[in-house]
Amino acid sequence: MKSPRGLQAKFLSIMGVAFAVVAVLILLLLQRQERIQSAVVEVSREAMRDSFVASLRRHGEGEVAQLAGSLTNPLYYFDLDAIGELSRAAMTNPGVRYVVVYDVEGNIVHDGSEEIPSYGKRMDDPLAARIVAAPALLGQWSENTFDVSAPIKIGQQRLGGVRVGYDLKAMRAYQDSALEELRRRLDALGRLQLLWVGLLSLGLLALGAAMLWLIQRWLVKPIRELAEAAHTIEDGRFGQFDDSDAARHNDEVGDLMRAFSRMSQSLARHDRDIRRMAYTDSLTGLANRLAFRESLDERLQQFDGGRGQLALLFADIDDFKRVNDTLGHDAGDEVLLQCAQRIARTVERVGGERALLARFGGDEFVILVEGKPQRPGEARQLATHLADVLVAELGQPIAVHERQVFLGTSIGVTLYPEDASGATSLMKNGDIAMYQAKVAGKNCYRFYSRAMDQAVERRVHLEHALRGAWDRGELSLVYQPVFRLGDGAMVGAEALLRWKHPEQGLIAPSVFIDVAEQSGQIETLGPQVLRAACEDAVAWQRARPGADPLFVSVNVSPRQLRNGDLPNVVAACLRETELPPWLLHLELTETAVIGDEVHASALLSRLRASGVKVWLDDFGTGFSGLSHLRRVPVDGVKIDRSFVADVLRDPDDLALTTAIIAMAHSLGVTVVAEGVEKEGQYAVLRERGCDLAQGYWLGHPVPAAEFLAQLPA
Ligand code: C2E
Ligand code: MG
Ligand code: MG
Repeated sequence: MKSPRGLQAKFLSIMGVAFAVVAVLILLLLQRQERIQSAVVEVSREAMRDSFVASLRRHGEGEVAQLAGSLTNPLYYFDLDAIGELSRAAMTNPGVRYVVVYDVEGNIVHDGSEEIPSYGKRMDDPLAARIVAAPALLGQWSENTFDVSAPIKIGQQRLGGVRVGYDLKAMRAYQDSALEELRRRLDALGRLQLLWVGLLSLGLLALGAAMLWLIQRWLVKPIRELAEAAHTIEDGRFGQFDDSDAARHNDEVGDLMRAFSRMSQSLARHDRDIRRMAYTDSLTGLANRLAFRESLDERLQQFDGGRGQLALLFADIDDFKRVNDTLGHDAGDEVLLQCAQRIARTVERVGGERALLARFGGDEFVILVEGKPQRPGEARQLATHLADVLVAELGQPIAVHERQVFLGTSIGVTLYPEDASGATSLMKNGDIAMYQAKVAGKNCYRFYSRAMDQAVERRVHLEHALRGAWDRGELSLVYQPVFRLGDGAMVGAEALLRWKHPEQGLIAPSVFIDVAEQSGQIETLGPQVLRAACEDAVAWQRARPGADPLFVSVNVSPRQLRNGDLPNVVAACLRETELPPWLLHLELTETAVIGDEVHASALLSRLRASGVKVWLDDFGTGFSGLSHLRRVPVDGVKIDRSFVADVLRDPDDLALTTAIIAMAHSLGVTVVAEGVEKEGQYAVLRERGCDLAQGYWLGHPVPAAEFLAQLPA
């Protein structure tokens, strides 16, 4: 990760570089100023010397010319006193070191002193040679002296000359002091400038610091806050950005902070929406599976080590699919919604304080109730009561699309910690118990027990073993003869499937047919049974060519009917086995037909149109009632053996059986009685006009070969 101080460090280093550059510039400036100062002094020195030389020359030459003029007469008359006076007067002029008056040969006449010690001596200094010969005013420079000489003449006659030496040392000292003064002034000026430069640098430093502070306040701090806020958003904590600071920033940064705040709020809103969507069921508004699972995990964690009890109720609406199939999905949704509302109200009323309710999708609802730790067994009591009330409540008719729908609910109840150690197994147990409630006849509740696990396990095992059982020859058909009551003649037989499990032996069809149905294996098994039955029926006809042909009736499961392919399968079977269609009877259960009357009616009509007969099996056990016969086109009904068993004892059953026979006959439908075990039953049924009958008294189901062998000629 990058240093969080990056921006500030960058500004600091930029500032540092700027200051270093300024400092170097100032140093260069100062150095330059030093040089300029010495150049100024040098130039001044030269200028002073030039002007000094010029003025000395002008002044000296003027003075000497005037002196020469004044000396003309005294020299002419050789008046030494006058010459001395003039010389001495000249000596008093500033800067004059010597005055020498000489004759035409260059011998000294006067040197301005009283005694004139050099009188008559020849001028023998280096300058002298040119002086004597010089025709006019002559200025000569030597180391320390400016020597000006002028001839003294009367007319054209040269009398001699005068030379005055000006002391350059004094002049130089004067010049030096002037220069010294100049230098002092320049130094003072320089110091003043240094002071200014120092002040300027200080000002710059202060400005830089102020800029840094402002940058820190306006830019770095808000950006750092934004970065921190971005991190909190990254961590999934939305909407925590405090934009009160933004009000202080009336600029782009403020805009950015406000935009950021709006963005984080909108993120928070979206997050809430997404969570809500993820955790609620859109149809009912109840919590969904995910939400329930999380809450359950939480509760179980709180429970760890504690006492108390939880109960989970797993409720499934019975036959809900029927509503969807018959009334459409809109009605299905409406029914679910009403069920959800009833459940929610009930849970609120009797579920206890900490009850949780969720829809698990489809027609499954799950409820969690909790007992107080100080009251052992409370959860069980609550759950029992709740299950009781729920079964009663959901058993009430539901009005939807101007119709009344009668549904029920099956509920599985399981307890924590008794039945399970974790959420997954608890929910699995609830499901198992619910399934057992369904098996027990629906519209009831069952508490989970370990035995149920074994039942489920057995079932899974059976499902596994059933796969491929037909090909392994474990499945076979037995035939039970069907007789005409009128003359007692055998007219056909019902094909019944048998499974001889290699280890468990014979398994009841009521068990394995259900497994095949639930697992979908019936869709391959059904056509195989149909084909074998048709083949056997053809064999019967061949065995007794002259006799009346026997029909074969084959049971068809609801799933085969729903699949919609049945008429094609039947047609193919008949074509391949060459069994006449009217010798094939299909037995459908009421429930298969009721599920979707319109669809079933169309299918049955197609089947009947091909010549196949359709019988309604187990008639009277479902809740369709006699009125159904009008709407569903069938050729026959098989009165369930529970009625037949009681016709001799229960007058109501006899009355019902009689009514069924009469009603069926009025519609032109054949009536078959199942489970005739006694002669008396047979007699009563015949007396009441029942057409056909089968049962142990008439003949047990026997294997195909045996059936064929026993056939009367
Ligand atoms: P179901 O179609 O009602 O078959 C009649 C059942 O009653 C048979 O039981 C038969 O053995 C039994 N039964 C016959 N006479 C008597 C009697 O006098 N007394 C008593 N108590 N019972 C009698 P099973 O073979 O156990 O079959 C049970 C059910 O399994 C059948 O009821 C049928 O719904 C289903 N099933 C059997 N084979 C097939 C099949 O191949 N396909 C389909 N889809 N279902 C089948
Ligand atoms: Mg049957
Ligand atoms: Mg039956």
